[in-house]
Amino acid sequence: MSGAGNVNVVNAESVVTVADDGRVRRGATQGEIGLIADGAVAIRDGKIVAVGSTGDVLADWSDESVPVIDATGKTVMPGLVECHSHPLFGGERHDEYAERLGGASLAEVAARGGGIWASVVATRESSDSDLLTNMAAAFDRMVRGGITTAEVKSGYGLTLDDELHQLDLLQQTRALTPMELVITFLGAHVVPRDIEAEDKGQVYTDLVAGPMTDAVVAQGIAQFQDVTVEDGLFTPAQALSIMARSHQLGLKTRVHADAWKPSEGWRTAVEGGAVSAEHLTYTPDEEIDRVGRADTVAVVLPVAELIYMTDRRANANRFIDNDVPLAISTDYCSSIHATSLLSTMTMAGPWFRITPAQAIVACTLNAAYSLGLADRCGSLDVGKRGDLLVLDCPHPNELFLGLADDMLSTVVIGGNTVLRDAVLRDAVMDSNTVDSPHQPQGDL
Ligand SMILES: [Zn+2]
Repeated sequence: MSGAGNVNVVNAESVVTVADDGRVRRGATQGEIGLIADGAVAIRDGKIVAVGSTGDVLADWSDESVPVIDATGKTVMPGLVECHSHPLFGGERHDEYAERLGGASLAEVAARGGGIWASVVATRESSDSDLLTNMAAAFDRMVRGGITTAEVKSGYGLTLDDELHQLDLLQQTRALTPMELVITFLGAHVVPRDIEAEDKGQVYTDLVAGPMTDAVVAQGIAQFQDVTVEDGLFTPAQALSIMARSHQLGLKTRVHADAWKPSEGWRTAVEGGAVSAEHLTYTPDEEIDRVGRADTVAVVLPVAELIYMTDRRANANRFIDNDVPLAISTDYCSSIHATSLLSTMTMAGPWFRITPAQAIVACTLNAAYSLGLADRCGSLDVGKRGDLLVLDCPHPNELFLGLADDMLSTVVIGGNTVLRDAVLRDAVMDSNTVDSPHQPQGDL
């Protein structure tokens, strides 16, 4: 047996399975990753057919025609699941960030025409081919950052035609990457400045909750609708009206919540039945406690907090203590150019004071649950797609001693190796004069 989608990964010092028992991880189980020593994974026709000790897996799945990845001394873990990104944008906002680093406030930058609105204007003016080229490049970086499944949002169009067009472009990008993409409609990203009305927020809410949601559902591309609940943008009541219409038409919802101020975003997301709420930087502890256990996944975004220079961080432990499932994402967007979920995951450890195991579950299984894809990805279980990472360290905890990108050796998606640094390393070694790289020379 050979060809696409078949591989045996063997001899791994550690295989992190994050074994899926059919339930999202919360509370004490947030940190259960399942470690197999001297482990192996067999993948056939794109799907995992065996996970276990190398001896056990090879007893059933040894086949000379199948490619082998020798993971001796390495860690194998599920491919990372990115559950919140905005890759479709035009223009650049690095000048704004440089200004902010030089001491300018957000309000000052916005007053000079910066912020999300600047990206909306630039995106509307961009050609399709430029947008597609930029997204293809970003997707390559995301794969190099350990991502094998990614949620991607519209939201820099903010008119009915522009949003439908952006969703169509996102659909076209499926052909540009080996990652599985999940497409989200984000009409209620910000209130467009060019709406001609006294109460722009309510007029635009009525547009999103009515004709836009209806047209997006009729178009049939979006798999979720995302709504911002933020003081000065959309109120809880406005967000709930959009979510209600969306649910009525069968389109599940996600929520941008409390990124800038306490705005009752978390409470609103749970009350409205959103599958996830993201940012949560300023969600008050009392609100987390009052809402208590919830099925809505709390998605925290450490790089966003770093770049925004917020004076608070999401209280990840408070969510875990309240039996809320936790996920982590990059928030890649026009103002945050983080495409590595691997480094975001390792940064999340000290940033939120959560354990490596809790962060790994947050970037794999729980993110997959938040996207409704846990039957296909997020763990190394028989029957799921063969998406995995091979990392140059013997134990997953070691990833967290740095930002880990330089430890990523191999990315496999659907049983196909889409990134393999080992080729580069062999070439370097061939060009050296050392007789054999495997035999130490003298007293090294
Ligand atoms: Zn976002």
